[in-house]
Amino acid sequence: MKLLRDLPELRAWRAEQSAPVGFVPTMGYLHEGHLELVRRARRETACALVSIFVNPTQFGPAEDLDSYPRDLQRDVDLCREAGAEAVYAPEPADVYWPDATTWVEVHGLDRPLCGRFREGHFRGVATVVAKLVHRVQPRKAYFGEKDFQQLTIIRRMVRDLDFPLEVVPVPTVREPDGLAMSSRNVRLSPDGRQRATALFAALTTAREAVERGERDAEAAVSAAGQVLRGAGIEPQYLELVQADNLEPASNPLAGRLVLAVAAFVDGVRLIDNLRIEVGE
Ligand code: AMP
Repeated sequence: MKLLRDLPELRAWRAEQSAPVGFVPTMGYLHEGHLELVRRARRETACALVSIFVNPTQFGPAEDLDSYPRDLQRDVDLCREAGAEAVYAPEPADVYWPDATTWVEVHGLDRPLCGRFREGHFRGVATVVAKLVHRVQPRKAYFGEKDFQQLTIIRRMVRDLDFPLEVVPVPTVREPDGLAMSSRNVRLSPDGRQRATALFAALTTAREAVERGERDAEAAVSAAGQVLRGAGIEPQYLELVQADNLEPASNPLAGRLVLAVAAFVDGVRLIDNLRIEVGE
């Protein structure tokens, strides 16, 4: 497996590839969720490239860019075991021109949910994914449903800007107790790690209520909120939205919905979401 440290190395490697490339963009500190994306890329394209880049432009000034966990050697070993052909791990100076003035903004979809609390976050995400895709020139790119808003935004960008790319969504990989895997989970204390299971428990409580016939958005969300608060967690947001456009779900509930949550546990920002399908 090749470790590529800058754009010239990436371009030289890319020029040698004749098979279609499957691309898995990540911020590193890899876990089973990331590796599921890598294995899927490998199965579907035979040539998986993983990028590892803690992208500074998607962090706000008060966010955890500096304390974001990093371990490149471990990540490289995990990618090799998962069957990746190459890892691209650039420095910020390799990715961004110091005087860059071009950004990709996906308006509308960047407003609700995380967009309300992370000003400029999705602008940074869309811009870096656009740049990386132009560099890597993959046939397919793999994104986790755990970051549902991000996935929705990337799909819209790819559609609106005619990227010759198939976006492949991958279901959220969870710990045995339901907690969505995240690089940030390592920063939880044992008590926080235990309490964090309330996120998934809250989402499933709401889904079960809907499955039992609840058709009122507020009631479903409030059932989830009770579970969170029972664990001493005050959500930053807990919202039931339409899966396609992230607009608020309206009553009576119908169609393809997503219940999404963000909460700080031990000062660590965690997100999760669950699909809820409401039939006729
Ligand atoms: P990150 O390194 O957190 O930026 O994530 C890189 C990619 O892995 C994104 O497409 C995420 O949605 C995806 N991902 C992160 N955690 C999970 C998970 N638990 N299950 C599935 N995909 C995930």
